[in-house]
Amino acid sequence: MIELQSKNDIEKISYEILKGSKSLDIFPTPIDKIVSYAELTVNSGIDLSKIHPSYLSRASDTLKKALGKLQGVLDREEKIIYLDLSVHTSKQKFVKLHEVGHNVLTWQQKTYDAFEDDESTLDVAVQEEFEKEANYFASATLFQQDRFLSEMNKYGLEIEAAIQLSKHFGASIHATLRRYVEYSKKRCALIVLKDCTSCGAKLRDKFQSQSFTKTFGELSVPTEIDIVYPFIQDYYLKLKLKKDGLVSLPTKNGSVDFRYHFFDNTYNAFVFLFPMGEKKSTRTKFIISAK
Ligand SMILES: [Zn+2]
Repeated sequence: MIELQSKNDIEKISYEILKGSKSLDIFPTPIDKIVSYAELTVNSGIDLSKIHPSYLSRASDTLKKALGKLQGVLDREEKIIYLDLSVHTSKQKFVKLHEVGHNVLTWQQKTYDAFEDDESTLDVAVQEEFEKEANYFASATLFQQDRFLSEMNKYGLEIEAAIQLSKHFGASIHATLRRYVEYSKKRCALIVLKDCTSCGAKLRDKFQSQSFTKTFGELSVPTEIDIVYPFIQDYYLKLKLKKDGLVSLPTKNGSVDFRYHFFDNTYNAFVFLFPMGEKKSTRTKFIISAK
């Protein structure tokens, strides 16, 4: 967890940038305006996923280090962001804001000349303080802080709410669902799955709302989840969207029956869980076609 004080500092800087770049209340969040307001440029002529060794002899030292599975590099001296252009555009947006974060968080400015980011530094579970802060900045800016909450409150407890919000802000489903669950006042949780086979699937991420954790404790979900779980069967059957799921899971209060909504966006499968009877009123109708 980031300390409250630095969270407040990050939010303040994020808000000033959203305001200064005239991005506040513009949807989807205009990332490129924010990047140029921060006096950075994205070099789209170089794709981190396609760096050829022959190129490296002519490249700067910063770029030479950019081998491996990097998704973003900030060359602070040159004020340039390099990206892995093979990843989904919504992921690239997040990486851009993460690099902006390294550049604008004043206490990070006197440290490294370059930041190199891969799956691990961009992951929510990252331990390094500067990376956590850059991720927090990216999320706060992408979702325009309290604008996310006011948009979110227009919807009921529905997986489609998060899908709709992801379109509204121009964010990935993964990042939006995570924020949705973490900011929800209702009891809900999210299980993110990957790599489905006939035996089971892997747990990629798990998030819970505060009130969910208060009632049920931390859900214990194994890292390899067996095909006996109904949502793993949904995943294996390649369902795109399902909203009438029921599953029994062990909690600190013993076994509890949960409702779940299932969604597969082809990169990951998302299982949005909430206890039976959790209020799920909605004023908004959704039109999402199932394959
Ligand atoms: Zn970073």
